[in-house]
Amino acid sequence: MVYSRCRRGYSRPTARRRDHPYAYGPLSEYVIAARPSESFDPNAHQLKIALPQTNLAEGDVVDLGDRFFEVLHLPGHSPGSIGLWEASTGTLFSGDAVYDAQLLDELPGRNKVVYRRTKERLLDLPVEVVHGGHEKSFGRDRLREIVTAYLGE
Ligand SMILES: [Zn+2]
Repeated sequence: MVYSRCRRGYSRPTARRRDHPYAYGPLSEYVIAARPSESFDPNAHQLKIALPQTNLAEGDVVDLGDRFFEVLHLPGHSPGSIGLWEASTGTLFSGDAVYDAQLLDELPGRNKVVYRRTKERLLDLPVEVVHGGHEKSFGRDRLREIVTAYLGE
């Protein structure tokens, strides 16, 4: 069984994550760029809890009708972290397996040894674009730079 603690972090108060500080609870003024109305109170806003509908595992296919994504088990950030891989376009939604910023690999629940194996796996993926869990998207060359730098540490 594979699950994503990070994705669950958006919906479960007990799984609130340090790298997703606004995953649950009142929204602060800090994260509000525009209000839907003058009467909207961001401190009174509560996110609706979304319960998982299924468990995903390595090799499962997420069928969106016109696009298909293979589930890649990419542990390290959490034991159940996943990525979604579309081979036909070289598109990877990497979650927190890789993104273009400092990796938070020392927080509780992370495993650096496992994270390294995940990074090595990503080097072999013929990606065209990576949409990370944080920051801007990037291409294959930047992926190699990020992973190589991480593995060299
Ligand atoms: Zn994250």
